[in-house]
Amino acid sequence: LIRVDGVTKKFGTTTALRNVALSVEQGEVVVLLGLSGSGKSTLLRHLNGLELPTRGRVSVLGEEVSNLSGRRLRALRSRVGFVFQSFELVPSLTVLENVLTGALATIRGPRFGLWGYSTALKRTALGHLDRVGLAHLAYQRSDTLSGGQQQRVAIARALIQNPEILLADEPVASLDPESSDSIMALLREIAADAGLTVVCSLHQVDLALSWGDRIVGLRHGEVVLDTPTADLSKAEVMEIYGRVATSTR
Ligand code: ATP
Ligand code: MG
Repeated sequence: LIRVDGVTKKFGTTTALRNVALSVEQGEVVVLLGLSGSGKSTLLRHLNGLELPTRGRVSVLGEEVSNLSGRRLRALRSRVGFVFQSFELVPSLTVLENVLTGALATIRGPRFGLWGYSTALKRTALGHLDRVGLAHLAYQRSDTLSGGQQQRVAIARALIQNPEILLADEPVASLDPESSDSIMALLREIAADAGLTVVCSLHQVDLALSWGDRIVGLRHGEVVLDTPTADLSKAEVMEIYGRVATSTR
């Protein structure tokens, strides 16, 4: 479903990724684990064409990402949901409107507030809000929500595009531990229900071990670990990944 082959990415003199290989099968839940600057975001951004490799190949859902542009790239992106650390909601819009923006790529014509969206789509959006436990906040401005609630909205926004793959870039890094746990549990449930393939970057070893099916460890842009979590002990991950990683949680 996802195949990354020999990908090197340079930004000027910085090498963000070095000869990275990664392969993800349908329905897998994979964690990219690495310290700040290890290349997690850069790798995720390659998986929906937000970055193109300096060298190497990225193929996603049967498409060679480097060969796509315009409409075909947008079509691929609509099949790949993305959830960010900073949520990236539009603060002045309501919760429901934010979820609906996730469907913008798939509908035509002008939209003014809620008026441009079909009743069916609004009902779908409300269904996704219900799924993430926020239907009761649908008409509230999104900037009045807590961080954990905003991330739930962002997840609903990703789900409305009916993605086949969900990419999440440190989705809980700015949340308190309690909200983190509930967001990560929600992501797992949604992945299982929808048979979604998930690639999620994290920097916490404990969370990665308890949450993922497989851990891909990055260090200085290189893959230094690629193992099912069932076959890993914390000590093994720490040895490869470096002690400093536990200090953040
Ligand atoms: P963090 O945990 O802090 O989010 P990360 O693992 O996501 O880190 P990346 O953001 O992928 O790391 O960055 C990897 C390296 O590439 C870093 O050295 C970073 O400074 C560099 N880098 C990333 N994006 C750019 C860019 N657009 N321009 C220049 N350098 C970049
Ligand atoms: Mg990052």
